[in-house]
Amino acid sequence: MSSDLVSTAGRYLYPNYRQPDVVLSHGRGVELFDTDGRRYLDFYAGIAVSTLGHAHPALVSALAEQAARVIHLSNYFYNEPNIRLAEKLCALTRMDRAFFCNSGTEAMEAMLKLSRRHFFDAGQPDRYRVVAFDNSFHGRTLGALAVTGQKKYREGFGPLPGVTHVPFGDLAAVEAAMGDDVAAILVEPIQGEGGVVPAPAGFLRGLRAIADGCGALLLCDEIQTGVGRTGRFLGAEHDDVRPDALVLAKGLAGGVPIGAMLCQGSLAGALPPGSHGSTFGGSPLASAAALAVLGALETDGLVENARVLGEHLTLRLGELVTEHPKSVKLSRGRGLLQALVLDDAVDARSVMIALRERGLLVTLAGGQGLRISPPLVITKSELDEGLGLIDSVLAAST
Ligand SMILES: *Cc1c(COP(=O)(O)O)cnc(C)c1O
Repeated sequence: MSSDLVSTAGRYLYPNYRQPDVVLSHGRGVELFDTDGRRYLDFYAGIAVSTLGHAHPALVSALAEQAARVIHLSNYFYNEPNIRLAEKLCALTRMDRAFFCNSGTEAMEAMLKLSRRHFFDAGQPDRYRVVAFDNSFHGRTLGALAVTGQKKYREGFGPLPGVTHVPFGDLAAVEAAMGDDVAAILVEPIQGEGGVVPAPAGFLRGLRAIADGCGALLLCDEIQTGVGRTGRFLGAEHDDVRPDALVLAKGLAGGVPIGAMLCQGSLAGALPPGSHGSTFGGSPLASAAALAVLGALETDGLVENARVLGEHLTLRLGELVTEHPKSVKLSRGRGLLQALVLDDAVDARSVMIALRERGLLVTLAGGQGLRISPPLVITKSELDEGLGLIDSVLAAST
């Protein structure tokens, strides 16, 4: 069954990815099954997306009920799930306004356009430069790519101007890059795709102070770190920093495409009617899914679960670093977004493949980073089951 599908895929899908010869068919909780009936433990959650795991009853019924009412209306009319979601997200993020779209990249575009147009309105149309960070990832459209600080994503796509990249964690370099043409500083609280690299303690606070000193905005990309993944609702909460605007996407609707840009009230006039929009954004279906996810976070204590199991994970990964000094360099991250950084001599891709063959799905981030980003519904015993598999594969790899 799957070999037929794999050969059809090889023939018709645009070959911009490198999937293994596996066709996944369904899941339950933290388990996934392929078309040949093999079971896998999901330690990647569709790249930190499947917050509630798979087939979570609350999400399934919210989607079924909303689909039976109305799926899509466009932005010509209000819909109740979207209004309720905006109110809830503003409360959870301490922001004042919410704009909805369908992906992280789109939310980034909205936030970048917001910051440029804010200064245009203020009579400073030449103030549009963004200070962003080396090794960052913000998405793949031309605007989001311009702020992304990694050559492997940018190469071949021509000039992407208007952005200055400086080393992540280096406040002096940020200071030196500032000027009266800078609209915003843009940061991920933990660089996800860059290899799960947390901002050093105090870094976000330092950025807040620099932005304030220059009259620039502080923008947070919480697409991967948001929605409870790090053990707080937002990654920036660990530093007690409130940005001017932030973006959420990945885990927000548990796998239904969604993006959200949230901002302070002072920016509510920057994108007036007609200046920005989205056909699908804010749909009743995606909004109902996000409400179900936020509801389950609350009723099932999932942010707390991410915090508590995150501490356990930090300890266990630390032990793996000690037990496998030849193959593992270090571990890092927070909550249920962590990585084991493998030694440069180890072929990280073959470790990932060996884990899959043993029934554990993980992703690579930043080249040598074995990223662990399971659904937030994971239990301690499921976490330990997967860590045991990592332990045995590392033991076999040296
Ligand atoms: C995934 C990601 C994006 C891009 O989101 P898409 O939904 O893939 O467009 C942007 N920023 C960060 C930090 C991400 O992790």
